[in-house]
Amino acid sequence: MTSDLASIIGIEAPTGLLIGGQWSAGRAGRMPVMNPATEDAITEVADASPEDALEAVAVAAEALPRWAARPPRERGECLRRAYELMMQRSEQLARLMVLENGKALRDARGEIAYAAEFFRWYAEEAVRIDGSLSIAPSGANRIMAIRQPVGVSYLITPWNFPAAMATRKIGPALAAGCTVLLKPAKETPLTALAVADVLTEAGVPDGVVNVLPTTKPGPLTEAILADPRVRKLSFTGSTEVGRVLLKQAADHVTNCSMELGGNAPFLVFDDADVDAAVDGAFLAKMRNGGEACTAANRFYVHELVADEFAAKLSARLAALRVGPGLDEGVDLGPLVNADTRDKVAGLVATAAGAGARLLTGGQAPDRVGYFYAPTVLDAVPPGAGILATEIFGPVAPIVRFTSEQDAVALANATEYGLVSYLYSTDLRRCLRVAEALEAGMIGVNRGVVSDPAAPFGGVKQSGLGREGAHDGLLEFTETKYIAVDW
Ligand code: NAD
Repeated sequence: MTSDLASIIGIEAPTGLLIGGQWSAGRAGRMPVMNPATEDAITEVADASPEDALEAVAVAAEALPRWAARPPRERGECLRRAYELMMQRSEQLARLMVLENGKALRDARGEIAYAAEFFRWYAEEAVRIDGSLSIAPSGANRIMAIRQPVGVSYLITPWNFPAAMATRKIGPALAAGCTVLLKPAKETPLTALAVADVLTEAGVPDGVVNVLPTTKPGPLTEAILADPRVRKLSFTGSTEVGRVLLKQAADHVTNCSMELGGNAPFLVFDDADVDAAVDGAFLAKMRNGGEACTAANRFYVHELVADEFAAKLSARLAALRVGPGLDEGVDLGPLVNADTRDKVAGLVATAAGAGARLLTGGQAPDRVGYFYAPTVLDAVPPGAGILATEIFGPVAPIVRFTSEQDAVALANATEYGLVSYLYSTDLRRCLRVAEALEAGMIGVNRGVVSDPAAPFGGVKQSGLGREGAHDGLLEFTETKYIAVDW
């Protein structure tokens, strides 16, 4: 624990590994956690080695049968208490997240409420693990199907939503009766450790939740996936890393859920309510400073409404207050690190060089911290790299179209398929286009799709499986069929 940190956020924040209910030092030493607004280290946390990971696998395997046998209501009540504790502590947790991630306090507060909601939702779902019973078509016997916990689960989360991506996995895993190892991103271990602290306080038994921050995710993950006691991998992160992990998981045919990258198109038709589309575009682009897998990455706007849409969206983005996330009134904090900021700057420079028109922003302010100005690019040439790359920053590229068919074809011309957005006041067009868009989620006249009660996930190379809703619970179970004669 570091008391400096406690004086800024108002609670003690754990900085050890959590293995078997004990906060411990990592065998790989300690690693710094950086503040993206100041470029300084905030504190250090324990750095887990592959040996630490195998110790955590052993305790999780040991804890599994007892946790799986706990009445579902009791598992649910632990999650319900965790929800309440998170809400009681929401301001402190939000501030802690801002320190290591950079996002504006408003976004962090929103994320803590969203993250806690996964615990509440899965507290309710824990008692709804059903099966089925039917009569075989021949009439000879009964077909009984039950759902059992998949087993020790390895959860890997990214830095962009350090609380919600953890609770979206831990909630259903614990509800289903699984024990878990959580590996947070090295940029944001403090939030993950604080969430685990909440679960411990909520009465989750030792060994059920283990947390392993590390600077070397590759070797740690290889060791974990090579252990046949680990039966589930649930990963949220880039498609690139997801592909590597799927190959590793093949060795033991480990059950995988993958929430991967996105390249969301945002379509505005000529019959859209343009003001509503600008509101939606603003949310879809700027939630979490653009660092969201659901972030609108490409705006396809009908040429008849493009001037109005571009002018209004630029005005909204230009009015944002950029600064350290902890300052009240700041709308946009820094990006998470220098690489992310430089990547965004490079994409904008290349697009502008290829003929895109810069309407606002377009540079990193001259100050300490990984800031980048909110940016709108109009008339982006259809082949520009920025349209094919996950921007992960506050930049909105606009492309004009003339026909619905072209807009849908442009939207679908990507290997990703996480989410797509469309704005139109014609219901028939909304549903026709929603069916034609190749994505796991569609926002129709709406710029936000995330909801703990909704099945979240992608098609194509954006993922496998769903998180949230009842579907998210089923990802941590396996079906057992029992053929019965009675
Ligand atoms: P990333 O893939 O670089 O890292 C994600 C996690 O994987 C981190 O914990 C990282 O430490 C770990 N990791 C990296 N290399 C690894 C390896 N070789 N073996 C095991 N683990 C490894 O992604 P990121 O930059 O942290 O996050 C941004 C990405 O996450 C974006 O592509 C975004 O779209 C995606 N994302 C997807 C969703 C979704 O629900 N689909 C949600 C949030 C973020």
